[in-house]
Amino acid sequence: MADKRLWTQMDLGFTSNPKVQEVLAESAGAVVLYIHSVLMSCQHITDGFAKEKVMVRTSFASQADADLLASAGMWHRPGHDCETCPTSVPLGEVYIHDFEEHNPMWTTRAAETRSEKATKAARARWATDSKSEDATEHAASIGQASGEQCSEDTPAMPEKRREKKKISSSSSTADFDAFWVRYPRKVAKAAAQKAFAKALKSTDVETVMSGVEALRTEVAGKDQKFTPHPATWLNEGRWDDEPSGQLQIPVNSPWDPSFHRMQASA
Ligand SMILES: [Zn+2]
Repeated sequence: MADKRLWTQMDLGFTSNPKVQEVLAESAGAVVLYIHSVLMSCQHITDGFAKEKVMVRTSFASQADADLLASAGMWHRPGHDCETCPTSVPLGEVYIHDFEEHNPMWTTRAAETRSEKATKAARARWATDSKSEDATEHAASIGQASGEQCSEDTPAMPEKRREKKKISSSSSTADFDAFWVRYPRKVAKAAAQKAFAKALKSTDVETVMSGVEALRTEVAGKDQKFTPHPATWLNEGRWDDEPSGQLQIPVNSPWDPSFHRMQASA
């Protein structure tokens, strides 16, 4: 039976990260508070914002734990100076550092894309029967309903947001921003933006983004010089590259077949 729970991802080095280690050394509760805030933000699609007092209360943490996260830069309070995160944080709230980069599935934009896809699929099914205005409207409402239940990884969108926000033609800038956040090497942004617009004439955003995810996996832990400039990658249409990454097994690890041969002959 398929697992119906919703997931986000966690970096394997999270608890070994020096910043996190420093916090851990002071208070394990602060790290639980942090994880709780990430999961709640994903669950409620708040785009990385969280009400500080609510987070503290619901994870049984202390105000000192919250202060610890703020001083370690894992949480940003109003007036913070982190250059990669949104600058305006409402009073009483915190922004989780680099939330969007680490939880790309759990942003309003990603949720809207999923909802939009479900709507389109429903429209396509109905369009074969009738092209009347009524049918289209009906299809849209069915699409939204099925967006909630059709797949395990579709989050339930807050009712209000789902109705109000529609993907508009200005989404191309948002698409590029999402690409830029995820692309593993950030050089020559203007050239990348031009190449991105060009690429979208021959493919769709989802294809490019899944290519970016494959590239991230491939270059993870390697020197940046092995990652192509974003404009080059886009211009060469490399989102279609076969992943070269069969699982990289370190030589002399127990998972390397020759390890066992070596052991056997030793
Ligand atoms: Zn930040």
